[in-house]
Amino acid sequence: MSITVTYDNNAYEQGLETAWGFSAFIAGTEKTILFDTGGGRSLLDNMEKLAIEPDRIDVVVLSHIHGDHTGGLSSFLEKNSNVTVYLPVSFPRKFKDTVRDHGAGIIEVEESLQICENVYSTGQLGRLIKEQSLIIRTGKGLVVITGCAHPGIVSVVNTAKDLIKDDILLVMGGFHLERASKGRIEKIISAFKQLGVRCVGPCHCSGHKARSLFEKHFGSSYINIGAGKVITLADLQ
Ligand SMILES: [Zn+2]
Ligand SMILES: [Zn+2]
Repeated sequence: MSITVTYDNNAYEQGLETAWGFSAFIAGTEKTILFDTGGGRSLLDNMEKLAIEPDRIDVVVLSHIHGDHTGGLSSFLEKNSNVTVYLPVSFPRKFKDTVRDHGAGIIEVEESLQICENVYSTGQLGRLIKEQSLIIRTGKGLVVITGCAHPGIVSVVNTAKDLIKDDILLVMGGFHLERASKGRIEKIISAFKQLGVRCVGPCHCSGHKARSLFEKHFGSSYINIGAGKVITLADLQ
C-alpha cells in the first residue's frame, strides 16, 4: 500500500504545483483510490508528473464540499469517468447531478461503510460542514486520512478507532488548526498520544504552528507532507 500526495499547498517534490487544497492517491489496496481532488486543474498536471494515469483510479472519495477538495473533480472525470464517487449524502443535488452527467457512479455516504477490502469511510461526521474521512486497515494498524477535519481531528480519530478496533498507525491530511492556539494544539497532541497514534502527517490546513509542534512531539514519527510525497508502509514504524 502506498499513498502519494497529489495536491497540497505545502511543497515537497520539486516541479510539482502547490496550491491551496488537498488530494492523495492510494494504490496497493483492492481498489485504487483518489481521495479528494484538490482545487483545480493542477491535480492532473501533478498526476502526470508523478506518472499516475487517471485510468488507474477505480474510486474517488470526496471528504467534503469545499472547492479546495472538489475543484479538480470535473477535469479528472473528463479523463476517467469510469469510477465510483463516494460523497457525503449532504452534498448539493446539483453537484451530484454533475457527477452523474459525466457518467460516473455515485455512492452517497451517510453512515460509515466499507469501500473495498480494508478501506472504510468514517461516514459523514460533523454538524455545519459534513465530512467523511478515509480509514485504511494495514498489518501495522490503521491509516486515517482527513481532508480538512472540520468535525475535529480528535473526533475523527476516535471515530476511526471505535469503528475498527485496531491501533492507529498514521493520521495524515488537513487537521484544520491554522488558527488554533499553541495550548489547543498541545491538547490535541496529548489526545493523539493517549489514543496511541504512532505517526502523524499534518498538511494542507494544519498550519505551520501545528506542523512544527507535531514535529517536536512526534520526532522521527512526524512525516513531512507536501505535494509529491510518497508514503509506504515501510516508512511507518
Ligand atoms: Zn481544505
Ligand atoms: Zn474545508
